[in-house]
Amino acid sequence: MRDSTTPEPLGDKPPAGAPVPVEERLPPGPQRLTKTPDPKSLDIKAHDGRAHEWAGSRRLLRLLRDLMKERGSSQAKLDNIVKLIAQDIVAEVCSIYVLRPGDVLELFATMGLKPEAVHQTRLHVEEGIVGQVAALALPLALSDAQKHPNFAYRPETGEEIYQSLLGVPILRAGRVLGVLAVQNVTSRNYTDEEVEALETVAMLLAELFAGGEIALLEDETAGAGGGRPMRLDGLMLNEGLATGQAVPHTRGIVISQVIADDPEVERGRLITAVAEMRGAIDSLLARADIAELGEHREVLEVYRMFAEDRGWIGRIDEAILSGLTAEAAVEKIQVATRARMAKVKDPYLKERLSDLEDLGNRLLHHLLDPEGTDTQDLPEDMVLIARNLGPAELLDYDAERLRAVVLEEGSPTAHVVIMARALNIPVIGRCRDIVTSVRFGDQVVVDADNEQVLLRPNEEVQESFSSMIAERDRRQEMFAATRDLPPVTSDGQRVSLNINAGLLIDIPHLHDSGADGIGLYRTEIPFMVRDTFPGVTAQTELYSRIVEQAEGKPVVFRTLDVGGDKVLPYWQGEVDENPAMGWRAIQIGLDRPAVLRQQIRALLRASEGRELRIMFPMISDVAEFDDARALLEREIERAAKKDEKLPTVVKVGLMLEVPSLVWQLPALLEKVDFLSVGSNDLFQFHFAADRGNPRLARRYDVLAPGFLKLLHSVASQANDKDVSLSLCGDMASHPLEAMALLGCGFESLSMPAPSIAPIKTMVRSLKLDPLRDLLPSWLELPDHSLRSHLKSYAEEQKVDL
Ligand code: PEP
Ligand code: MG
Repeated sequence: MRDSTTPEPLGDKPPAGAPVPVEERLPPGPQRLTKTPDPKSLDIKAHDGRAHEWAGSRRLLRLLRDLMKERGSSQAKLDNIVKLIAQDIVAEVCSIYVLRPGDVLELFATMGLKPEAVHQTRLHVEEGIVGQVAALALPLALSDAQKHPNFAYRPETGEEIYQSLLGVPILRAGRVLGVLAVQNVTSRNYTDEEVEALETVAMLLAELFAGGEIALLEDETAGAGGGRPMRLDGLMLNEGLATGQAVPHTRGIVISQVIADDPEVERGRLITAVAEMRGAIDSLLARADIAELGEHREVLEVYRMFAEDRGWIGRIDEAILSGLTAEAAVEKIQVATRARMAKVKDPYLKERLSDLEDLGNRLLHHLLDPEGTDTQDLPEDMVLIARNLGPAELLDYDAERLRAVVLEEGSPTAHVVIMARALNIPVIGRCRDIVTSVRFGDQVVVDADNEQVLLRPNEEVQESFSSMIAERDRRQEMFAATRDLPPVTSDGQRVSLNINAGLLIDIPHLHDSGADGIGLYRTEIPFMVRDTFPGVTAQTELYSRIVEQAEGKPVVFRTLDVGGDKVLPYWQGEVDENPAMGWRAIQIGLDRPAVLRQQIRALLRASEGRELRIMFPMISDVAEFDDARALLEREIERAAKKDEKLPTVVKVGLMLEVPSLVWQLPALLEKVDFLSVGSNDLFQFHFAADRGNPRLARRYDVLAPGFLKLLHSVASQANDKDVSLSLCGDMASHPLEAMALLGCGFESLSMPAPSIAPIKTMVRSLKLDPLRDLLPSWLELPDHSLRSHLKSYAEEQKVDL
């Protein structure tokens, strides 16, 4: 039961139960410094000279290094390596498996297993325990390996007599190159120190493979594509089309020395590099263009706190004491961070750990390329390639030269993606294997709209994309010319075109695009990029700035729509099994009325003396709207009692996103001032198809006759009752879909700012009445989609799509 009547404390404090300070959720708490630190104060403890607990591994590392200096074939070196490791760790077996094309792990060298199994035993990733280590990119220490559900016995190896197994992944730059495993006949509990020692050795092996000292990966190290054209699929994180030359983010980071000659020298290098890195972050924050980033700056502030995380630096220091060079120590902690990231489910913590990874990369740049010389030589048209990127790392690159970003990871809510959107840079994420498939300077086509990356395309493909980009640029220029023209159809009907916004940085686009107003201001976005729950004062300030910067154009504020895919960093909600249909949006607002009331209070204050338009998201029935409206009335009464100035008019509406509400429209239309269809959610619930699931992305069409019939019916009912109606989902931003919506009876649309010009161009070339007459007959067709009918109509009528 909701308890929207229960009084909850209000004020400029976070509401009870909701926010959890970030420090409490992070091991260990970052410390804020107010000025660039003195290198001596970096809190790295003086080395007391006592034997370190990984002394064994240090000795082993030295032996391995000496071994590398000897002449001999790669196979001979590997055979010696496994022997040395087996002796050092006192195991009967030590084996190296190397990942070959097709996700196959091949036994490359062994001490203890049957020699004839070398190059014969092959396991698929995920097969057997070794396969699990590779699949999870995590170590596995098993005292009784044969009892493990993944145990796969290979008779040619003769491994049935070994009871315990410790396997660690051989990782480089986050990629699995193979697995290093030791086995013992008896049941043995491998200690954490032994696991870490083996991981350190695996790291050395990774560097030896990558540095070519052990030539076994042949052309794989030179890029999996071997110079051939390739197409890789990914996930569109920011739209756009671009071509350019590949610039791998980790270029120049080559760890050529893993084992230190003198740990104290390495500690000194670490101290200097950390101080330089902090200074560079401070300078970045002070840059004028960063100051203009509004809320984005906060993302960077949080990041800076991590640069001061003593626990993180302390762990790097410990790795140096185990015998590694400073860069190898950073890389080792990077591997551990990635392993933690793989286990963490909470998206916020994942994002924070990725900030730490980002810092690790920066630190490596400071250690290995202190002058930052290589950034001077980057191409004019660069496509940045990375496994993942932090927000600050993106800003290190000259935005003028940056054409696109391609990531192996990345999610729509990642900070780097929020930044890239603000800078209008196309981004494709989840592009598997891009890092190993590309080399510096390779030609790349990034077609974010079609979620594909083309590597080293042949000349014809490249030309066709270049002409597509030229055509896009030409259209952009043509669109720019429509800025001051009204959106009136060729038969004289004025429609209203508005933008969707969510950050201060979006507001200038309201004016550059010539839009009528902001049809959807997503208030949750500024909440999402913050680190703590904003109180009434902070919210009032933010909303006032939006209202002021809108310069009299109307702004529709949508109250907090969190839950589903919109995660608030500091809000520890329950984990919903089915988040899109879980506890979200207005349900949270009504169950935690203090949150909603604070927001309403801030909106009222920010709109004093002006009109306020406010709408509630994800309303499922009329009673829910009544409850939300009652909270608004209470806040208005409260403000009036306190003699606070009020808005001149408050218009109250809601988002129609849940199909159940369509069946209550007659009652609802009596109560609302306006309606805005959220077609993204309405569509996913109409077809029961998760809007974020790539497999379902193209399965159903918004131009399906059934879905358009629903929209047509909503528009007819709203128009009959003279209730103002808009649509603010993604559908409104595509010319053909927008044409269909106008045909259904919509007169107002809201979309991302870059879509205003193309939609206006379509509107100005459209004769609307004949389409409105024709459309109802199509709605009864049994077709999967009306796309082809609409396209033919547009062609015949010369509608400019
Ligand atoms: C929608 O659902 O169409 C909508 C505009 O809301 P959001 O995309 O923010 O969920
Ligand atoms: Mg929605």
